Amino acid sequence: MAIATAPGKGGVGVVRFSFPSVSQFESFCLAFCGKLPQARTATLLTLRDFEQHAIDEGIALVFNAPASFTGEYVLEFQGHGGQAVLQGVMGHALSVARQLNIPLRHAMAGEFTQRAFLNDKLDLTQAEAVADLIDAGSVAAAKAAAASLSGVFSKQVNALADRIVHLRLLLEATLDFPEEEIEFLEKADAKGQLHHIMTIHRELLNAAQEGVKFRDGLQIVLVGEPNVGKSSLLNALAGEEIAIVSAVAGTTRDRIKQELNIRGIPLVLVDTAGLRHTVDEVEKIGIERTRKSVAEADLVLVLKDATLTSEDAFAQHLELPVHLPTLTVLNKIDLLAQPLAVTPGVQAVSAKSGQGLEALKDAILAKVGIAHTPDHGFMARQRHVDALHVCGQHLSTAHEFAKQDDRILDLFAEELRLAHDALGEITGRMLPDDLLGLIFSRFCIGK
Ligand code: GDP
Ligand code: ZN
Repeated sequence: MAIATAPGKGGVGVVRFSFPSVSQFESFCLAFCGKLPQARTATLLTLRDFEQHAIDEGIALVFNAPASFTGEYVLEFQGHGGQAVLQGVMGHALSVARQLNIPLRHAMAGEFTQRAFLNDKLDLTQAEAVADLIDAGSVAAAKAAAASLSGVFSKQVNALADRIVHLRLLLEATLDFPEEEIEFLEKADAKGQLHHIMTIHRELLNAAQEGVKFRDGLQIVLVGEPNVGKSSLLNALAGEEIAIVSAVAGTTRDRIKQELNIRGIPLVLVDTAGLRHTVDEVEKIGIERTRKSVAEADLVLVLKDATLTSEDAFAQHLELPVHLPTLTVLNKIDLLAQPLAVTPGVQAVSAKSGQGLEALKDAILAKVGIAHTPDHGFMARQRHVDALHVCGQHLSTAHEFAKQDDRILDLFAEELRLAHDALGEITGRMLPDDLLGLIFSRFCIGK
C-alpha cells in the first residue's frame, strides 16, 4: 500500500494496494470499500471509518491478477488530493487489515514495479524505464523512456541472445561428436554466425550508448577568454537570459549550469570563468573549477572572438585532456565587415544575431556521436552499456578461439555462455537479488 500520486496538494490523490492473495483481497475490499467493486470499472463510493464517519469520497478501481500493473490483485482508490486525506485513507486501511488479520503494510520504494518484475509483467529494462519515464527531463527523453518501457530495448537484447543460444546449441551438439566437428561447423557456418552476432552486438552497443545520453544528458563546457561571449552564447542556445552578461571582462566568476535540449537531446551547458593569469583569489577559484568541469565534460566548446586577429594561447594554457572532443567556435561574426572564410571544423556564430546557431547545434550533436533523435532510439542506463561491453569482450575471445582450428571448441562454447549471461544481466534474468534490490530502492515510493 502506498500513495501513488506526487506529495503535495492536488485535485486527486491515489492510494494503491496490491495483494498476492485473492481471498485476502476480496475480504479487504468488502470491509474497506463497503462492497466489492467490479473489476476495471470506476465505482464511486464513500469510505467510512468504523463509526460510519466519512473519511473521503472517491473512485475505486479494481484490477484482477494477472491483468494488473503488479500482476497481483490491485485496488486503486482515487480520493481528494491532500496529504491529510490520503493519510487518513491509509490509516483506515491499516485498521481494516488489522481487524481481518491481513498483513497490510506501507510499500517500499519501487516495490510495485519490483512485484511487476517478479511476476514477469516487465523485464528489468522495462522496470527501469518506469523510473526513467517519471524522471525524464524533456518530452523527447520521455519518449525514449517510453520506448524502453514498451520493450524496444529488451526485444533487441533478446534477439541477440537468441542468436547466441542458437550458436551455443550448435556447438554443444558438435561437442558430442568430436570426430566430425570441423566439417560440421563449417557446414553450419559457425564463424559466419559469430560475425553476424558481433555486428548486431556492435549496433546494439552504439544504440545503448546513445540511450545513456538521452537519460543522463551530455555535459558541454564553454571555455574562452573573458568577453568572447560565453554567457551570451549560453543564453542564445538556451533561449532565455540565465547568465549575467556584462561588458566588463571577468564577470562570470563561477561556472553556471544550464539544462537545455538540442533537437530533443538533454544537455547540461556549463559556462566557465575565463582562463587567464590573475591575482584575484575569487577568480582563481573560478579557474580551478573550470579545469574540473572540463575534466568531466563530454564536449568542450572553445569560444573565440572572431574580431580579434591575434591568436590567443588559450587552449594550450588550459591543457585540455587529449581524448576530449573539442569544437572551436568563433563568435561575434556580426561585427565582421566581410564574411569569414570557412574553415573546416570551426563553427562561426553570432550569439547576438543568432547567425550560425543551428549549424552549431548540428555540429555539437555530431561531435558527441548522436545520430538518432530520441524518437527513433530508446533510453538505456550505464549498467546496460557495461553489460554489453562484457558481452562484447566474450564475443571477441570466442572469435579468437574460433579462428584456431584445433580442439578448443569447448572454450569457444564457454565464451558464448559468458556472453549470453552478460545479456541476462540486462534483462534481469541473471542478476543477483541484492543488485535487484538496489535498483528498485532508487525508485520513488508508490511506484
Ligand atoms: P563572456 O565573458 O565570455 O561570458 O562574454 P559575455 O557573454 O559576457 O559577452 C561580453 C560582451 O560581448 C557583451 O557586451 C556582449 O553583449 C558581447 N557579445 C557577446 N556575443 C556577441 C556577438 O555575437 N556579437 C556582438 N556584437 N556582441 C557580442
Ligand atoms: Zn560570461
